[in-house]
Formats: sequence, C-alpha cells, structure tokens
Amino acid sequence: MAVISVALAGRSYDVVIEEGLLARLPATAAPFLKGYAGGRPVPIVADTNTYRLYGEAITSDLAAHGLRPEWFVVEPGEDAKTWGVLEKLTDWLLALGVTRTDHVFALGGGVVGDLVGFACAVTKRGCGFVQIPTTLLAQVDSSVGGKTAINTKAGKNLIGAFHQPALVLIDPLVLGTLPDREMRAGYAEVLKYGLLGNAAFFDWLEANGTKVLAREPAALEHAIAASIAMKAAIVAEDERETLDRRALLNLGHTFGHALEAETGFSDRLLHGEGVAMGMVLAARYSARRGEISGADAERATGAIAAAELPAHLPALRLTCDGARLVDHMRHDKKAEAKTLPFLLLKGIGQAYVARDVDLTDIAAFLDEELAA
Ligand code: ADP
Ligand code: ZN
Repeated sequence: MAVISVALAGRSYDVVIEEGLLARLPATAAPFLKGYAGGRPVPIVADTNTYRLYGEAITSDLAAHGLRPEWFVVEPGEDAKTWGVLEKLTDWLLALGVTRTDHVFALGGGVVGDLVGFACAVTKRGCGFVQIPTTLLAQVDSSVGGKTAINTKAGKNLIGAFHQPALVLIDPLVLGTLPDREMRAGYAEVLKYGLLGNAAFFDWLEANGTKVLAREPAALEHAIAASIAMKAAIVAEDERETLDRRALLNLGHTFGHALEAETGFSDRLLHGEGVAMGMVLAARYSARRGEISGADAERATGAIAAAELPAHLPALRLTCDGARLVDHMRHDKKAEAKTLPFLLLKGIGQAYVARDVDLTDIAAFLDEELAA
C-alpha cells in the first residue's frame, strides 16, 4: 500500500494505492461516508461498463455497513462530458439533497472523473467528491490534480474548473478488466513521467514495462505510485498551471492533440496513443535541434514502440501535411500564431518549455516525419 499526499493549502488530500481497495470501500472511505449513516443515499456515478463490472459488489458492501448507494450511470465515452449530461447529473444531485459537506463518488475513467468533478465544482458552489479511477490513465493522471471539465462545440475540456477531490482511491486490481488497448494508452502517461522528469524511473520502466502492462501487482503498484508521486509534487508547486511546472505534464500533448484532432478525437487514436506518438515527435524534434542525443531520442522511441504504442508517424495513415497539423495546434486560429510554447527534451528525464519554436519549422519537421 502507498499513500501519497497532495499538499495544497487548505485542500490537501490523500491518494491511496492498494490492491483490493475497492472491496474495502466502506472502511477506506469511512470519513466521507459518515454523513450518509442516517439513511440518505450515497451518490455514486459510473459509466455502464464500470457499473456492470463493479456496481453490484459496491452496493452490497455498502449495504453490509447500513449504507444505500444511489447510482447515476452514463454512457461510456466522451459524449458523457456534455452540458446535457451535466444538467441531468446536477439536477439528480440536487434532487438527492446533496449538501456542500457531502461527497459524491466517481467510479470510472477520465470521462466520469472529469464530469463528476465539474458537477461537484458547481453544485451548491462546490461540494466534495471522491475519485475512484478505474483506467490506468485516470489512475496515474486525470484523477489527481483537480482539473475537471466538459466538452463543447469549440473543443475538448474548454468549460471546466479546478476542483480538487477529497480523496483518491486507486485499486490496481480493477485494471484486470480494462481492455489491453486502454491499458497501453494509460501506460503512455506513465512513460511520460519518466521522460519528463525522472530518468531512474524511465530506466525502471524500460526493464519492467512488460510486467506493468501484464498487471503484475508489485510492478503495477510501483508504476502507479511513482507516477502519482511526481504528479502530486508538480501539482503542489503549480496548482493552476500559472508557472512552467505543471506545463511539464503536457509533454507530448501539443503534437498529440494535433493528431487527435486530425483523427477526429475518435477510436482511431486514443488520447494516450496520441500522447505516445507526440512524445516520440517531441524527442525527435529535440534531437533535430541538437538538444538531446540521437541515442536518447531512440531510447524514448524504443520504450514507446516496445509498449506497442504508436511510434512511427506514417503508421497512423494520415492524409494531411505538417501545416495542417500545426493549424490544429493553434488554440486561437485567428491569431495565426508564429510560435507556441513546446515541451522539449534536453535528455531522458529532462523536459523543459521551449518558447523559441517556430511553427513553420514544426510544419517542415512534421512533413519529414510523415514521409519517413
Ligand atoms: P480515460 O480514463 O482514458 O479517459 P474513459 O473514461 O473514456 O477513459 O474510459 C475508457 C473506456 O474504458 C470506457 O469504455 C470505460 O467504460 C472503460 N473502463 C473504464 N474502467 C474500466 C475497467 N476497470 N474495466 C473495464 N473497462 C473499463
Ligand atoms: Zn494526457
């Protein structure tokens, strides 16, 4: 078991990582369940998959402790992160009589976590919530740090709030039911932590990545704990991404976002897969600028390819050119920005924010990569 504390003035919370935690929910989440002891229902949000897999067991465990859950179940996928679902969810919370001192439970991947976090940020001007992330991606990344959001026509995650959970419960056992492709996509974010700031962890992942992907308990718990420890430290230093610290977590994400946009944010390329390819591109571009050795760029690429994540741009079979990918990177399309901050590498475990990157050069680099 590992307990990592996210240290934030007045809003510190624990991330508990332990196999079998979900089966002990009434005990581990006891302080946040106390308010429901009088018979009021415990609000739990899941998607149809996490509800189908874990709903009944949780209901009976809580019942054994005299607690009665009330479930709100959404369809899996990004479509749950909409104003429409948010409205239904907040209406449901208000109908249940949720108060500011109550805690809502979120059982699912990043989609459920983002939706519930945002709903709780705005319900009664902010009620509590407990994250129970069930994908590797959510366990190592999105469940910690307080970024919550829904999607709109203008783009993903553009409407949201910083709202920290009161507790994060990570049970690596639930990854046993996660599809392999989702597991690998989450693993891309694990590799990200090594690449961005922890060379020793990257070494360890090179040696033990297969065990992590195979869900070997000790390796998995170590990978999750090391990732969360890094995320917790970064979030504690820069909660709202106003410094360059938290931006480091976006390694691979600018390139990755362009690839996700080009593939329509569809099943063609999962977020983690886009990040994986994006990290390869960041490493190769850093090597092209002479900031990282060709050998280190190869190591980064090799670790990603070894996890069967996309590491070769032509394999994505895009039909666009580099300029179009750069267009996807510009947040404000009207501004015709000539530069953007880019996360680049000075070595394995040494990411930094480069502010002198010329987007014309990025487009040329991407053309080379697309033809490679
Ligand atoms: P992410 O955490 O990557 O943002 P989502 O919340 O979209 O992802 O979840 C990805 C998919 O995995 C969804 O279809 C979801 O229902 C499913 N899922 C989540 N957790 C589990 C689990 N433990 N076992 C099986 N499927 C799961
Ligand atoms: Zn990400």
